[in-house]
Amino acid sequence: MAKIIDGKAVSAAVKEEVAAEAAKLKDEHGLKVGLAVVIVGSDPASRVYVNNKKKACEAVGFRSTEYALDENTTQEQLLDLVNVLNNDKAVNGILVQLPLPKHIDEKAVINAISPEKDVDAFHPVNVGRIMIGDYAFLPCTPAGVMRLIESTGVDITGKQCVVIGRSNIVGKPQAMLLLQKNGTVTVCHSRTKNLKEICLTADILVVAIGKAKFVTGDMIKEGAVVIDVGMDRDENGKLCGDVDFESAEKVAGYITPVPGGVGPMTIAMLMKNTLTAAKQQSGIE
Ligand code: NAP
Repeated sequence: MAKIIDGKAVSAAVKEEVAAEAAKLKDEHGLKVGLAVVIVGSDPASRVYVNNKKKACEAVGFRSTEYALDENTTQEQLLDLVNVLNNDKAVNGILVQLPLPKHIDEKAVINAISPEKDVDAFHPVNVGRIMIGDYAFLPCTPAGVMRLIESTGVDITGKQCVVIGRSNIVGKPQAMLLLQKNGTVTVCHSRTKNLKEICLTADILVVAIGKAKFVTGDMIKEGAVVIDVGMDRDENGKLCGDVDFESAEKVAGYITPVPGGVGPMTIAMLMKNTLTAAKQQSGIE
């Protein structure tokens, strides 16, 4: 039976580290870390995410400022706000909650955020920095996954790592981070042939496809580390992951649950990135 990787506990430890450093910045340098969160429209899921980010900021001692814009906000108005935030010294990190309404070009907005304040690490400059291994911020979800793998004590060096999913926010950066830790990485996607055979080679399997309970126990190598990034709904509308936990936990060595696995890590890593941004902008190491 697999050991459960407790994302709540690991994320709490990350937030504690961040809170301690934020308190030190305030005491020693009079600096209060600030995150600006921009939300456009009234998507209920986005509202929940933004509220959670605000709560996390409070918990670690950051100042969070919310900019809740009307659904009909124009792209130009949003870009103007981003520009104001880029130039505001009290703002260390800028987060524009995605998705944006259809009439706004997400790429244009992401590209407008100053790379130094891009705590989601979505700006092409930050994406490029990840490719060459010279980065300030890591994208929050893949960085959270790395921390969870680290918490198992399993060394990535030389391991067969399989990532299912190749999105820009999870799959691709995840593969890059595993590669930087000396994993031998295979990236799978919807056109991959022999997915099951490839999964069965994985010592470390990261699943990020968005399909409820897609990966079953018979696709998992005995003793593997299984990280489930998925946030899906099962046939009863209950939150579940991309991995069929029930069959997978019988085979895996370590496994993340959904909820309580990767989910809590994403916000914790966002707090860490915002702290890093504040330190870099003030020239503090
Ligand atoms: P996405 O942009 O929709 O990408 C899904 C990826 O899965 C694509 O690369 C797709 O391949 C691949 N895929 C789809 N069906 C497949 C199949 N049958 N076999 C193999 N590969 C398949 O999704 P995402 O943004 O990466 O998110 C993935 C999941 O993670 C979602 O459930 C999302 O809600 C969750 N998520 C969770 C967090 C968190 O904080 N826990 C953060 C982000 C995302 P193609 O490229 O060929 O289409």
